[in-house]
Amino acid sequence: MIGGSYSSAEFASLRDPEPTESLSSYLAAWRGHAGVSHRRFMDYVAKSDPAAAVALLDDPDYPKHPCWRDAVAKLTGIDQSVLTELATSLGPWPLLPPCRVHACVGCLDDYGSPSGHARSKMWSYATWTICPIHNLPLMQVPAVGWEWMEIAPAQRKANARLMLRPDLVRASVEAAWSRLEQPVRNAIFHAESCAWLSPSGPSPYRDALKYNRFEDRYVWEDLLSFLCRSWERGPAPSLACLVCP
Ligand SMILES: [Zn+2]
Repeated sequence: MIGGSYSSAEFASLRDPEPTESLSSYLAAWRGHAGVSHRRFMDYVAKSDPAAAVALLDDPDYPKHPCWRDAVAKLTGIDQSVLTELATSLGPWPLLPPCRVHACVGCLDDYGSPSGHARSKMWSYATWTICPIHNLPLMQVPAVGWEWMEIAPAQRKANARLMLRPDLVRASVEAAWSRLEQPVRNAIFHAESCAWLSPSGPSPYRDALKYNRFEDRYVWEDLLSFLCRSWERGPAPSLACLVCP
């Protein structure tokens, strides 16, 4: 275990993972609790098992090589079953790690202070641009939770309003989003839900469009094209941000 000597009482104060919280978000919360920098944490992981460090660097949310779990459990004291659940994908089409840069300001507002924010797995899929809880478009953010404390001060300063006053940003996003016609908002949400539920990708989904009850056929087809675009080349703004007036 790293991060100095801790009594069991001190470790008990590490919060539990939030529902659908991503692995990287919870490990950042652990680092904040333990007072360990990301760099030092990764050094310890690499020293314990170089393959585990490579796996976490390749994908900090869904590492592929199974050895990462042993190394991280040994270093952090987090139960392996908790780690397994954190690293379990919720559905198809996860974005590549550099593209996982979105968050819901409604969720951030509900969490409270920036250090208490948690990054949801629901913000890391190509098929979700709308928060299913708040029905708000996801926004690009510099970092979430303890990761916010780990970025450069200048970057924190530049994004202070967004991350420190998500209540204000939430109000303006709600106002802008509400100006989009309700049928279009419904169509986007419904299309994203269908894409999420479609087990074999966009082709069956395209067929299903023939039977949809909305008249906004062109909206659906444009949305489908967007959802099916390649996410291999780097970050891109969400559909919701593009259509937001
Ligand atoms: Zn939300």
